[in-house]
Amino acid sequence: MSPAAPAGRRALVLFSGGQDSTTCLAWALARFPHVETIGFDYGQRHRVELDCRATLRSRIVALRPGWAARLGDDHLLDVDVLKQLGASAMTDDIAIATQADGLPNTFVPGRNLLFFTLASALAYRRGLDVLVGGMSQTDYSGYPDCRDNTLKALQVALSLGIDRPLTLETPLMWRDKADAWQLAHQLGGAPLVELIRTETHTCYLNQRSTLHAWGYGCGECPACRLRAQGYRQWVARLQPTPRAIPG
Ligand code: ZN
Repeated sequence: MSPAAPAGRRALVLFSGGQDSTTCLAWALARFPHVETIGFDYGQRHRVELDCRATLRSRIVALRPGWAARLGDDHLLDVDVLKQLGASAMTDDIAIATQADGLPNTFVPGRNLLFFTLASALAYRRGLDVLVGGMSQTDYSGYPDCRDNTLKALQVALSLGIDRPLTLETPLMWRDKADAWQLAHQLGGAPLVELIRTETHTCYLNQRSTLHAWGYGCGECPACRLRAQGYRQWVARLQPTPRAIPG
């Protein structure tokens, strides 16, 4: 984990209601004295994730003393302009497949660039100076707007554009999905892992009828597969390794 944050920094977490952004919310609550959340309704097929947000916010603050006092307002912005821009398996009822350029058609071009731009505008209005996002370029779907260099460049552009120093923090950037479960465990122990397992939403197909060991979902879409694989790897790491008996 990075060193303790300077006193007084105020954070805005891009909070979708999924596993990664919930882990980031706990990470921010553990570091910053004031934390607000922002969510985006862009007509995503897995819109059920937005319904998870309020429950997660109300329950996460009970996990550690002091977190309730740190958690500030929630903001939900309507950005259905992304849906107007064209078909993606994330917003339209089309089968998930790989495009000619090698990216999955769940890629929504410009999505994270737009989200961070809107978050920076809100941060300007609200006097917040750290933006926290759950993007990762480890164990990911290959989206170019999740990459570290994209977000480093964006940090510079946004700070210049509002003429205030903004820091973009991405605590999961170099963590795989198993590491993300481990980070949640470090931050909030077994109760946070259980909250993430049962109350966050990841499945692209909006399926929440079956509870698996790793959480709710169809178990087949790319998002479910990544989440399930990471959970299994994390659980396997927790098992004590048998020691060789000295001969
Ligand atoms: Zn799924």
